[in-house]
Amino acid sequence: MSDKTATNRIPVREGLFTMPLSPLEQVRLVGSRCRTCGEVGLGTNFSCQNCAGDDMEVIPLSPEGKLWTYTVIRNRPPGDYKGPDNPYLPLGEGLVELPEGIRVLSPLGNDVDNLEIGMDLRLKVYPLYENNDGNEVIAFKYEPV
Ligand SMILES: [Zn+2]
Repeated sequence: MSDKTATNRIPVREGLFTMPLSPLEQVRLVGSRCRTCGEVGLGTNFSCQNCAGDDMEVIPLSPEGKLWTYTVIRNRPPGDYKGPDNPYLPLGEGLVELPEGIRVLSPLGNDVDNLEIGMDLRLKVYPLYENNDGNEVIAFKYEPV
């Protein structure tokens, strides 16, 4: 993508990934598990979405999941969309069910004609774009295996 090194990588959202962001193949999404009720949520959370408890532990989430449901975004989203553009490519967006028992809203890539509910998906962590400071902004998607 560029001659930048891995030290110039930042996550698209703080608390979303295991660190460091290199090598990208070993980066995982991070979840938070409630030690009181067992509820798991995406990202680093300091209180439980289920019981409002605050005894949380951070866990790496599985890189494998199954497609629970999805939609295809055929028109370029407004705002600061950073995916393939000019031409814009239809984008799959779906709920991916992970073994931890949660469903993660995730981009599914641009191979939208081959998406199928129940199919096996695998996490891909990749540079989405380079920001004005020269940092690679790291994002994720789940793609067909
Ligand atoms: Zn809880």
